[in-house]
Amino acid sequence: MSAFKIPYGRQHITSEDIEAVVQTLQSDFLTQGPRIAEFEQNFAQYVGADYAVAVSNGTAALHLSLLAMGIQKGDNIITTPITFAATANAARYLGANVFFADIDPDTYVISIDAIQQLIAKHPKGFFKAILPVDFAGYPVNTEELRNIADANNIFILEDACHAPGAYFIDSNNDKQKAGNGKYAHTTAFSFHPVKHIAAGEGGMITTNDEEIYQKLLALRTHGISKNNMKYAVLDQEKQGAWYYEMHDLGYNYRITDIQAALGNSQLKKAEIGLQRRQEIARNYRAAFNDLPIKMQLDNEKHFNAHHLFVIEVGQRKALYEYLHQNGIYAQIHYIPVHLLDYYRQFGWKKGDFPNAETYYEKTISLPMFPSLTDAEQNFVIEKVKSFFKKNI
Ligand SMILES: *Cc1c(COP(=O)(O)O)cnc(C)c1O
Repeated sequence: MSAFKIPYGRQHITSEDIEAVVQTLQSDFLTQGPRIAEFEQNFAQYVGADYAVAVSNGTAALHLSLLAMGIQKGDNIITTPITFAATANAARYLGANVFFADIDPDTYVISIDAIQQLIAKHPKGFFKAILPVDFAGYPVNTEELRNIADANNIFILEDACHAPGAYFIDSNNDKQKAGNGKYAHTTAFSFHPVKHIAAGEGGMITTNDEEIYQKLLALRTHGISKNNMKYAVLDQEKQGAWYYEMHDLGYNYRITDIQAALGNSQLKKAEIGLQRRQEIARNYRAAFNDLPIKMQLDNEKHFNAHHLFVIEVGQRKALYEYLHQNGIYAQIHYIPVHLLDYYRQFGWKKGDFPNAETYYEKTISLPMFPSLTDAEQNFVIEKVKSFFKKNI
């Protein structure tokens, strides 16, 4: 029996969080109350965006973003094979065709060159959206992507579910935080407990585009809106306070006030959590320097939010089993999306994206979460080292 039981990620709930939830339970609103607008304002401010729309989860954030951009059946979108299936699935909900561009072998995020090659192989106007993913917390350079997008009339939906607080330095030497709305048209975040900010379930879309923002507000609640009314002006009767219109088919993708209260409380600690993640990453990097381990590129122009700490090793399965035997529940992120059975039906197959596939064969995610103690991390490091001593 191991002295420890360490997951790869977990939430950190404080008494302040519990108090915030209890207060909401005792208030007049369990949903559609004041905590949601508060969470949206605080989150928009945290990432530096003009607008934020809270939704029921990160997948809904991706789906609604594409819907608000006008993506529809038969449209073509580009994403990375190394992401959670939800990124690609969101496009499939709308009947869009998913194309993949291979990852960069060092940063593990979608390769800009691969995107350019893919676009060049198709007629102008073929692609409608690009969905880059800030994989493991490494922020993609959305400035470079936006240049490509503008030249081709393409929307950018950044999947920053791994990356609240991440930023890159743009060509003007300015810090660009993921989700600040400067280069991506919309950005999606998740508040699943394993992510940086836990709300039970929850998601957020940020944007600087007022038109997209108005659409998102309506689409998360069935498409029903009391803004932008078309008919009320024609008919006095329709100007009563009860009156609403529905212009588009939306969903019930609302978040509750209970979740928003927890999210708000968690958001206050996001910066501290981010610092702790940096410290944990530095410790791993220093400890593994001399081992046959490849780590995600540590690039001074890209501040990694470290949702995950992924490493590449030769004997991945053996290491996975060894760590699990020792109570360290390392995980694998992710099986390349193009190799999932559902996506193979569209003709994707092994060999299509060699960088993604090589990465997948070697990758393993070590414990990375703010409440990981030094003793726990040292235990993980010691076990990784002892594995290599036995296996070299
Ligand atoms: C977690 C995650 C999602 C989905 O978020 P949910 O809140 O679980 O729906 C989407 N994309 C990525 C990259 C994620 O990690």
